[in-house]
Amino acid sequence: MEVRAQLASVFHLDKCVGCHTCSVVCKNLWTDRRGSEHMWWNNVETRPGTGYPPLWEDQERHRGGWVAHGGELRLRLGSRAHVLDQLFQPPTLPTLDDQYEPWTYRYGDLLSGAPADDLPTARPVSAITGRPVDPAAGPNWDDDLGGSAVYAAADPNLAALEPAERAALLELDQLVFFHLPRLCNHCLNPACAAACPAGAIYKRGEDGMVVVAPERCRGWRMCVSACPYKKTFHSWVEGRSEKCIGCYPRIESGEPPACFQACTGRIRYQGVLLYDPEAAGRAARAPDDRLVDAFREALLDPADPEVIAAARRGGLSDGLLDAARRSPIDRFVRQWELALPLHPEFRTLPMVFYVPPLSPVRAVRADGARPVSGAVLPAAADLRIPVGYLASMFAAGNARVVEEALGILTAVRAHRRARTVGDVTAADAARRLSDAEITEETAEAIHRLTVFPTLRERIVHPPLGREVESEAAPGLQGLVGMRRRLRS
Ligand code: SF4
Ligand code: SF4
Repeated sequence: MEVRAQLASVFHLDKCVGCHTCSVVCKNLWTDRRGSEHMWWNNVETRPGTGYPPLWEDQERHRGGWVAHGGELRLRLGSRAHVLDQLFQPPTLPTLDDQYEPWTYRYGDLLSGAPADDLPTARPVSAITGRPVDPAAGPNWDDDLGGSAVYAAADPNLAALEPAERAALLELDQLVFFHLPRLCNHCLNPACAAACPAGAIYKRGEDGMVVVAPERCRGWRMCVSACPYKKTFHSWVEGRSEKCIGCYPRIESGEPPACFQACTGRIRYQGVLLYDPEAAGRAARAPDDRLVDAFREALLDPADPEVIAAARRGGLSDGLLDAARRSPIDRFVRQWELALPLHPEFRTLPMVFYVPPLSPVRAVRADGARPVSGAVLPAAADLRIPVGYLASMFAAGNARVVEEALGILTAVRAHRRARTVGDVTAADAARRLSDAEITEETAEAIHRLTVFPTLRERIVHPPLGREVESEAAPGLQGLVGMRRRLRS
């Protein structure tokens, strides 16, 4: 058995308040330069909605990610020859209208204008041409849906719903939304790296972060086309690609990534995942309805003596294995099976996982039935955000894994309400725990890590500082080798 490690993340969507602090912190730290106005390495979307860039999930249009053909993976963008053929004008890039024309204001007009009776205003002007513009799109243009169902109605994931269910979701007085923070997933099988003709994108051996080597980037922009999450960007000033670097300089000096540290909702967790590279390769090729299960099967138990022995043989350090055993990601993703990958059908094996959100109970189901009256906690079918919608986002359409995750979340709530509020009977709470196949101890552990985590519990890093534990590197190298195998 071969054992590899990767730094992975979990975002708990029930806790995100949509404050955009994460986006602003990231922007101030990394992309406040001219040429990177449109780069939102971290952005927060309102769902249902179209996201940023709009309709990034529509791979018929953007042709990002991988497709499995006869057990083989191919870039949706096309073969290597096809990629080279399109070198000078990749046809599937987001346009300026998609990512908006960066604008600024002539603030001087406010100070130098002649005295007048009306309030002075500064019209927006293009940051590129200096000419006046009327912005009509932006990174969070549809924030909180802007009081309209128009953006929600364009969400590609609604195609997974029955017409009656879709119509019920979009009724304005029933409309409910949640926030989806997104950044580069630092995928195990990154399409951006596979598509780069210059070989400028690589996974760091130390932590698995996917980064661009600026001195090698020739600005071909194939990574922008190939990333199905649209998380690489082209700088119109530097003439090269840039993307989230996972705040590795901060991690190497013992700090959490900036967006994790600043997150007001404390929704962000980070830690080590151990995985079997061969099984991960199989997971990337699995049929859609098996993708999440196959992904989980590739993850390894860091407390298993066989895994520990194999990891040591492979050069993984004791410090790293200790961090893997304390990893909140291992608990949310592998042990509790609560956190799910975003669009696993893109087959990049993303390393950011999401705990799906609960939502208010519907007054009337799409089939006309009313939810059980008096029930304090709803069944998954009674939630206003339909399971089919969440399954389209987080499980390649597999409703079962979403229902199981929602069942665990409601069971934990029932358990806690029975203990603290008293409006759920002990028998009902016990039944829900049993239905969700978790024990009281597990429910308590989920509650603890969800509600009261300290920063040290949310962010558990192995000793990654090169000067501290340089022997960590050999065990983690080979991630790139795995990528090459998946490409071949
Ligand atoms: Fe590359 Fe995955 Fe990040 Fe996209 S999300 S830039 S494919 S590592
Ligand atoms: Fe959500 Fe945290 Fe970002 Fe606020 S800072 S939008 S809570 S992820």
